[in-house]
Amino acid sequence: MQYRPLGKTGVQVSVIGFGASPLGNEFRQVTVSECESAVDAAVDQGINYFDVAPYYGRTLAEERLGNALVGKRESVFLATKCGRYDREEFDFSAARTFSSVNASLQRLRTDHIDLYQVHDVEFGSTTQIVEETIPALEELRREGKIRFVGITGYGLDVLERIASRSHVDTILSYCRYNLLSDELDQSLRPFAQSAGIGLINASPLHMGVLTALGPPAWHPAPPEVLAAGKRVVDLLHRRNVNPSAFALRYCLDYPHAASTIVGMSSAENVQSNCRVLSMALDSELLSAVRAAATGGYNLSWPSGLDENRDGAN
Ligand code: NAD
Repeated sequence: MQYRPLGKTGVQVSVIGFGASPLGNEFRQVTVSECESAVDAAVDQGINYFDVAPYYGRTLAEERLGNALVGKRESVFLATKCGRYDREEFDFSAARTFSSVNASLQRLRTDHIDLYQVHDVEFGSTTQIVEETIPALEELRREGKIRFVGITGYGLDVLERIASRSHVDTILSYCRYNLLSDELDQSLRPFAQSAGIGLINASPLHMGVLTALGPPAWHPAPPEVLAAGKRVVDLLHRRNVNPSAFALRYCLDYPHAASTIVGMSSAENVQSNCRVLSMALDSELLSAVRAAATGGYNLSWPSGLDENRDGAN
């Protein structure tokens, strides 16, 4: 495994992070033993960054991850979230944040969370997040329940707006830097880099689009993106290259993300993703992939409140 510094936290995180949303059956039904084998394999491979949220499987992913980490908690950097609890249920109040952290600690079977993140900030009032949610996280930090404070979301402008008005250690952005997008690098990365904020790049497979199985039914991308992703996957199959491996390698080559968080729910996925560490991208094939992605590249979709959309302010 390779490790990179996470902003100014002093923590070294694995370049491949374990995304635990699939443990909550977000992509397919997964058994408990598959979850345990995936987590065991990840720890064995040196993956130390684990990302989860109460939202994933409506608490199921946290519960399964907590059980699978018994006896391994000390070897991992555990990140979870508050604020999003269901597809349409958001609550960024301090009161809910305080009750949520206690419930997460119980499910995760631990006495502290390494990174506590405000989940999908584009769905909340930025004023409330800056003046109420993040100060609540600061209080939790003083109490020793959490070590670091982060924010996550899809909208790039809103992440920057919040981070520039408060102290955050990390920003997690998803689906904005991979074979179908480089918007993260153009828009948020310069700010995060100059502020010394740890940048985490999630969904390197564009939430399943860049896999042989394809995206889940709930995928929010417009049809042009899904079609472009399919063209990329088909092209890589024709060239006898594993599309997920190629897509992940592309993200690992991005030096500005401390960790690339990929969703994994089987030991096979963990092992094949870790083999990517010793792979190199063929530049001719990358040019062909870029051509195949044309028409669906950098096409974002609406997410969150109108006032928080990119370009709205
Ligand atoms: P992803 O792009 O990582 O794709 C996950 C899908 O790819 C799953 O179906 C998984 O089984 C499959 N997969 C993984 N490795 C594979 C392989 N080698 N071969 C074939 N298929 C493979 O999308 P994601 O899971 O949504 O994102 C990664 C993680 O990032 C999430 O689990 C979550 O922890 C985090 N995330 C956070 C936010 C947020 O905070 N707002 C949003 C998105 C993702």
